[in-house]
Amino acid sequence: MTTAGAFDFGTAGRIAFGPGRATELPSLINGWGTRALVCTGADPERHRQLLDTLPVPVELFPVVGEPTVEMAGIATDVARAVGADLVIALGGGSVLDLGKSVAMLLGNGGQPLDYLEVIGRGLPITEPSVAFVAIPTTAGTGSEATANAVLTSPEHGRKASVRSAFMIPRLALVDSMLTLGCPPQVTAASGLDALTQCLEPLVSGSANPITDALATAGLRRTAAGLRRAYLDGSDVEARTDMALAALLGGMSLANAKLGAVHGFAGVIGGKVTSAHGAICAALLAPVTAINIRALRDREPLHPALDRYRQAAGALTGRPDASIEEGIEWIRETVAALGVPGLGELGVQAGMVDDIVAKTGTASSTKGNPIVLTEAELREALDRSMN
Ligand SMILES: [Zn+2]
Repeated sequence: MTTAGAFDFGTAGRIAFGPGRATELPSLINGWGTRALVCTGADPERHRQLLDTLPVPVELFPVVGEPTVEMAGIATDVARAVGADLVIALGGGSVLDLGKSVAMLLGNGGQPLDYLEVIGRGLPITEPSVAFVAIPTTAGTGSEATANAVLTSPEHGRKASVRSAFMIPRLALVDSMLTLGCPPQVTAASGLDALTQCLEPLVSGSANPITDALATAGLRRTAAGLRRAYLDGSDVEARTDMALAALLGGMSLANAKLGAVHGFAGVIGGKVTSAHGAICAALLAPVTAINIRALRDREPLHPALDRYRQAAGALTGRPDASIEEGIEWIRETVAALGVPGLGELGVQAGMVDDIVAKTGTASSTKGNPIVLTEAELREALDRSMN
């Protein structure tokens, strides 16, 4: 929290949450546009029934794999060619991020590289996106409530964001029934991303009273739903807990900051093709343990230590749980969900120097509750390898 207690909070224009609510899409977007670009995963036919109910002509854009800078440019050209003035993204985090970029480009003109941070020109985004609807089919990234989209640039070997308050979806339609078909591995990786995206904002220096409440609730939902959703994908109650945890994580990170786990994950994600959530999961317990050790050594009165204690209570379900018990809960859960170490996820010894150097200056790392030394970052990475 800032010393003056001032903060901003922005989120999706409207959140429609609940199992089965995707059927309300046509009425929710009534009057929002005359032609829609609909971004989906690789197989749009999975959603044929829902797509057939839309009140406007539709141009489909299937997103295969991670969204790249080039793909966002092509999708925008398609949308411009058909005169789309509404973008609907129905899919996982990749699909949502691509759709969000296109909606921004339709509102502002130009190409992705004009606006991308780090690898592009980083021009300010001055105009609202065209109407954008985010309908997640995985429970993880929380992109339905965030103001940025992550695009990969294979030629730069890294990921970068386009970011603006104008990019927060006008509607987040969160229907946990759409996540029932998620395979266990995807449930595990995306669910552990949601967990990380609740924990990092809770301990970040940019937290505010609203993000605190949301992030804590998200941790409780994760504790209730994650293992159950992994073991039985058809458990609607567990799926609904995780859909809410992901949404709450997105709302939190969009208004507070992340931390070193996401700092690492952004850099590593540019080098290996493993799922973002799996990378976060491998890093989560080691980075948390090192953050806590650094805080106790150098800033023993830092409020983040109290936040870690709160998180331990929310995750274990025991308000008096110690920080160590919280870390142990994370370690056990990551293991129970079968997420391997970074070595198995593709990180090689030769990449370590570069990863440590780039993580130190990554934008997410700036949200970490304490500045970690290079040696600490190296140790955290080393302990995440297997
Ligand atoms: Zn994440």
